[in-house]
Amino acid sequence: PGAPSDARVALRTDTGRTDTGRTDRGRTWTYADLWRTAGRMAHVLHEAGVGPGNRVAVQVAKSPEAVCLYLAVLQLGAIYLPLNTAYTLAELRYFLDDAEPAVFVGQTPVVGDLVPPAGCRTFTLDPDGEGTVTAACHGRPPWERVAEVSPDEVAAILYTSGTTGRPKGAMISHGNLAFGTRTLNALWGISEADVLLHALPIFHAHGLFIALNSMLYAGASSVFLPKFTANAVIEHLPHSTVFMGVPTLYTRLLADPRLARERCGTMRLFTCGSAPLSREIFEAFEARTGHRILERYGMTETTIIASNPLDGERLPGTVGYPLPGLEVRVVDAAGQPQPAGTVGGLELRGPNVFKGYWRMPEKTAAEFRPDGFFMTGDLARAAPDGRLSLVSRAKEIIISGGYNVYPREVEIVLNRIEGVSETAVFGVPHPDFGEGVVAAVERQPGCESLDPAAMLARAARELAGYKLPKALIVQDALPRNAMGKVLKNELSSLHKDVFR
Ligand code: ATP
Ligand code: MG
Repeated sequence: PGAPSDARVALRTDTGRTDTGRTDRGRTWTYADLWRTAGRMAHVLHEAGVGPGNRVAVQVAKSPEAVCLYLAVLQLGAIYLPLNTAYTLAELRYFLDDAEPAVFVGQTPVVGDLVPPAGCRTFTLDPDGEGTVTAACHGRPPWERVAEVSPDEVAAILYTSGTTGRPKGAMISHGNLAFGTRTLNALWGISEADVLLHALPIFHAHGLFIALNSMLYAGASSVFLPKFTANAVIEHLPHSTVFMGVPTLYTRLLADPRLARERCGTMRLFTCGSAPLSREIFEAFEARTGHRILERYGMTETTIIASNPLDGERLPGTVGYPLPGLEVRVVDAAGQPQPAGTVGGLELRGPNVFKGYWRMPEKTAAEFRPDGFFMTGDLARAAPDGRLSLVSRAKEIIISGGYNVYPREVEIVLNRIEGVSETAVFGVPHPDFGEGVVAAVERQPGCESLDPAAMLARAARELAGYKLPKALIVQDALPRNAMGKVLKNELSSLHKDVFR
């Protein structure tokens, strides 16, 4: 309520030359700047017919104006629906037909090529912040009214990362967002004194809700990078306090010799999530910077579920404790709670759990227990004190010769071998065993000497025979999605015939 002051900086864009060759203008946006531009965009969207409950689909590059667009949609009580900028025109068309938005905002070439669905108005917003939506703001006063919404109303539809199949649209309510942001800010001690080095995309829950919402809610500042480059991050570390990343970003930072303790003098927190962080990266990062990365676990459907502590032991290979206010349980296939130490499906109930998948009532019903617990699809183990370790996704369990193999267990062993950057273990059809265990190994740059037979011999010292990969393939890079998650679907279809 009330217009924020011009005193505090909300976002600062890069001032150096970016890797794309473009010299950024290095703009500073105060909270009042954000408020005014968001208000003008709300005015434009309102005139375009956007009201409470309407979807506004957005496929734009990361920019301060894109943040304003997000805030404008929320201000109107409409539903923000961000889309991965990598989607092709055909994919985009699928999402637009699915979402039936009142407005689509995209980049000029895409909007030019798109035949929008009936009833959908289009605007452009380009990486430099220019476009028909910003042009329409000129001369329009900011929209003053902030729509009254109940905690239960949908604020955003976010598509999942599509790691295991076609992305699903998760309906996230205002209550989900408010709970997540307040809880994380308390847990991680985020305050207006913080400067977040923001390098994640903002079409995904991690960069949008976890990183951006936390900063805006605290009145903190962000160094707002258009995209991650190790160069830009290392350059801005010396005047930042918080960095949020995914494991591949940490690998890429470690590959830069300039990453050192001296550059991290003002940094107080490095967090990691979205995919498993290996012990090797955790330890290498601590050795280089003195910082123990705080690993946490979340999903598009739930934002954050568990976090290692800010003060207290951050243990590699664990995702810490469930957030206060959540009910979390580890259950067997029948839904019976399991004792500490036993692997089972992770389920939760609480104010961060989404309202369901957009226009997928059967899918939604299939993922909830009758008592309201959401089945995450992740397998976990709880320590007696409640600390959680993720074991694998349930979908990724390999059944070889009648035995269950958890890929993560095999990956942990292979990741320890020198020269290995990351491993992905998955199953493919096998004539005798039903499924055979296969490992795809990403080698560290410059390491030519990885020998599959020697690696398997090493692994055999630690793993039971049925868990040992029956094929081990060394490659330069593993296939990944925009969040740096390894696409095991792609790997298993690529290697589906290795045992035939
Ligand atoms: P899709 O549901 O479309 O297949 P996705 O599950 O990867 O894709 P997201 O919602 O972005 O989509 O990711 C949530 C998943 O990411 C979790 O269910 C979990 O498997 C994984 N994940 C998140 N944080 C961690 C972590 N710290 N360690 C291991 N896995 C994690
Ligand atoms: Mg998922």
